[in-house]
Amino acid sequence: MSDTSSSLHIFNSLSGKKEPFTPIEEKHVGMYVCGPTVYSNVHLGNCRTFISFDLIYRYLKHLDYSVRYVRNITDAGHLEHDADEGEDRISKKARLERIEPMEVVQRYTVDFHKTLVAFNTLPPNIEPTATGHIIEQIEIVKGILASGMAYEINGSVYFDVQKYNESNNYGILSGRKLEDMIHNTRSLSGQSDKRSPQDFALWKKAEPQHIMRWPSPWGDGFPGWHLECTAMSTKYLGEQFDIHGGGMDLKFPHHECEIAQAQAINQKSPVTTWMHANMLTLNGKKMAKSTGNNILPSELFAGTNPVLSKAFSPDVARFFMLQAHYRSVLDLSSDALEAAEKGYERLLHSIELLADLPKSKESSANINDHIQGYYAAMNDDFNSPVLIAQLFETVKLIHRVKQGEDTLTGTDIEKLSKAVNAFIFDVLGLTLTTKEQDNSYLDKALSVLIDLREQARTNKDFATADRIRDELLAKGIQLKDGKDGTTYSLSS
Ligand code: AMP
Ligand code: ZN
Repeated sequence: MSDTSSSLHIFNSLSGKKEPFTPIEEKHVGMYVCGPTVYSNVHLGNCRTFISFDLIYRYLKHLDYSVRYVRNITDAGHLEHDADEGEDRISKKARLERIEPMEVVQRYTVDFHKTLVAFNTLPPNIEPTATGHIIEQIEIVKGILASGMAYEINGSVYFDVQKYNESNNYGILSGRKLEDMIHNTRSLSGQSDKRSPQDFALWKKAEPQHIMRWPSPWGDGFPGWHLECTAMSTKYLGEQFDIHGGGMDLKFPHHECEIAQAQAINQKSPVTTWMHANMLTLNGKKMAKSTGNNILPSELFAGTNPVLSKAFSPDVARFFMLQAHYRSVLDLSSDALEAAEKGYERLLHSIELLADLPKSKESSANINDHIQGYYAAMNDDFNSPVLIAQLFETVKLIHRVKQGEDTLTGTDIEKLSKAVNAFIFDVLGLTLTTKEQDNSYLDKALSVLIDLREQARTNKDFATADRIRDELLAKGIQLKDGKDGTTYSLSS
């Protein structure tokens, strides 16, 4: 373990403070991140959270921790409304599309994986599903019932928040007070079996039309959404583990309820460090599936969303996101992406110069200051914008050395190169492939086809012109005629 890791500080949402990070078991880190509910394509907001935790995972690995990273797939139990009401999101999609719920799950799990690969995120070590852990969830419900902190009613089991709060603190994570919650909530609609609106479902009875159902001691039903994460994190990381993460919007009720469930069965706090990534916004509002205020990664890569002036590569989007701290809100706009693209290209071209810098007998600059700057940034709660700013300081040095205004020895160049590469590729997870590299041959080939189509149109040979357009479209390449000529975009 390098000595640089000893000063890692992480902002813990539980204490509201930055704390020195000390894993429960030396050199090992257990990290659980709530995964997607796979009922539609992930949008860029979801991607931001997973990229934030990818950065965290990568840096922990860079510090030589052996990390067990568990990120689940929610494929059952997440209802339309957080307050235990409405249809299961996956069942609803299956009903609307007249397909099996597991077809919905499969389709969007594949999309999720494909997208995260495009963003160069590392896969977790374990990716468990809610439906694969029904037995474990039922066992936890039995345990909570045995502790007296849950009650069964009409085939459903609810967590008794007030009972729990007599000996524990419901609100410990979110900072909410149960009295205020009671005061501020409307009374229950006649349809709910819950004793109190704050109680939450551990197990819900399946009505006859509910297609996702499993047998249980309380009859056919399905697990409550919060339960799966307690079941899977405990199974793979133990009753107490180091880091639990998710987007800020999961802090309450999801994570608060997870703490309550785990406390009720194990009488201990399940997680040392709770981490919450902040939201990606569009036009100042949270990107969300439900409101339609979102951009899909495929639209970003092809430039097909009206908000975007052009296509942006996954690397540029990743760089754009990492230029903000994971706990800050980030607003996405075409201008901001274009600015990120410029910075990204500058970084890329300067780094290429590093290998060919002239070697001198003496160094006039202290490269250790640069390298320590990278560690200091990341040790300060994974501060990637400061890390990127430090890398741009190194870019300045590279240019000074190139122009003979500063000197570096061969050994220093090598050491600096190693550190820069480690932080750019291994920690920030950038691949540094440019759009030109990706598309140069495609651009050239398409300009030939676009010219041929133009010629056909001039000759009034519309059949050929349309054939070129339609056959390209069938292969996922869309031609767009504009006042400055014809351009193309890729549909996925
Ligand atoms: P879901 O599939 O809705 O359960 O969300 C998956 C993850 O994406 C969760 O950790 C959410 O907190 C996160 N998330 C949802 N919307 C946004 C957003 N606009 N910005 C950042 N993260 C988000
Ligand atoms: Zn979760």
